[in-house]
Amino acid sequence: MTDGAGHHHHHSTPGELTSVESHLADILGSIRPLPPTQLAIPEAEGCVLAEDITASRPLPPFDNSAMDGYALISADVTEASKDTPVMLRVSGEVAAGDTGAYAVTPGSCLRITTGAKLPGGADAVVPVEDTDGGLAQVAIRIPAAPGDSVRYSGGDARQGEVLLPAGTRLGPMQIAVLAASGRARAEVYPRPRVVVLSTGNELTAPGTPLAPGKIWDSNSYTLTAAAHEAGCLAYRHGPIPDDPMEMLPAIEDQLLRADLIVTSGGVSMGGEHDVVKETLSRLGTVRFRKVALQPGMPQGFGTIGEDETPIFTLPGNPVSAYVSFQLFVRPALAALQGASDLSLARVQATLSEAVRSPSGRRSYLRGVLDGSKVTPLSGQGSHQIAHLGRANALVIVPEWETRLPAGDTVDVLVLP
Ligand code: AMP
Ligand code: MG
Repeated sequence: MTDGAGHHHHHSTPGELTSVESHLADILGSIRPLPPTQLAIPEAEGCVLAEDITASRPLPPFDNSAMDGYALISADVTEASKDTPVMLRVSGEVAAGDTGAYAVTPGSCLRITTGAKLPGGADAVVPVEDTDGGLAQVAIRIPAAPGDSVRYSGGDARQGEVLLPAGTRLGPMQIAVLAASGRARAEVYPRPRVVVLSTGNELTAPGTPLAPGKIWDSNSYTLTAAAHEAGCLAYRHGPIPDDPMEMLPAIEDQLLRADLIVTSGGVSMGGEHDVVKETLSRLGTVRFRKVALQPGMPQGFGTIGEDETPIFTLPGNPVSAYVSFQLFVRPALAALQGASDLSLARVQATLSEAVRSPSGRRSYLRGVLDGSKVTPLSGQGSHQIAHLGRANALVIVPEWETRLPAGDTVDVLVLP
């Protein structure tokens, strides 16, 4: 196969590597949405609706005034103008929230405020600006037609109309609709509870001094933040040492509160220090494989415990852990939430510099996307986080490419 730029495509990947797509498909095959639950508005905020929200009443629920002014009979003021105002008797006032029965008769009107129920007999409101503002009687300076400055019942939504379909995430605007339609609670997918654990003897808590040979733990913070950003309740567990006796109990302790577990580190290709892989392999429910991916080749996924809680074991290099999260964990978190709004936007852009990629693996290079141009960051090593703070996108280099020249068009994932 040849694309427009003349590159040859070989879609197969070397036998021992699993493609990004099939690894993700295996993951999604074992993720079910969390059971929906009724939550009050404050708790439902940020969650995805599991039901359609319909208007239980017409919106607005009654005919009301759109302006502060005078509710009147439009036929009384058809001849009104600035030079020849029509005088009407003001028989009282109706304010927003008044529940009394008000009515106007020919030749009279009522002062009215925005949102007040339109009095019986009235069919229009003239704004106070177009009058002399009189209290006992008022000079009306413009003509009115039926419906002027009136907000009719059902004019916004009919009773029974779907206002928010299931699958909608409840942000501030959707919360507005929910409350305005009289709902105090809604059936939503709860925020998944994600437990993040980092592993490694070398890890030291940020804020404490570094002994020689140690580094500060960044992954547990990164992944917790990423899970939170993806709509989850994220719990961070500090570093676990590379000790099989500590690893499994520490993970099992989290099963009570976790809907999904993410670990980092300890899954490289072999060696007694890859304690996550060693420990979880023995359970037989977590599968470790090499994915045709750069960074992030060693991946583990499976379920553990009675509830078959999904667990991701991500590689330890900080960039690998982050990229793996966005490619594999994020879609799983979306599936738990019944959400369709978490996929990363994919756009095309022009490379401003040449890039390299290992043969047979798909690269996701950190880059800065600026309009239709993308600039790869210098320092693409999986451990290189120095420039990570500037990245807003991942440049995709297909498996069958080892080098792309500047000026090529590439697919780019926009980072959240
Ligand atoms: P591992 O996957 O455990 O072999 O770790 C690969 C590399 O990532 C090593 O250089 C680790 O020191 C580093 N690393 C592992 N976990 C973390 C972490 N939580 N924060 C920062 N770097 C880490
Ligand atoms: Mg390690």
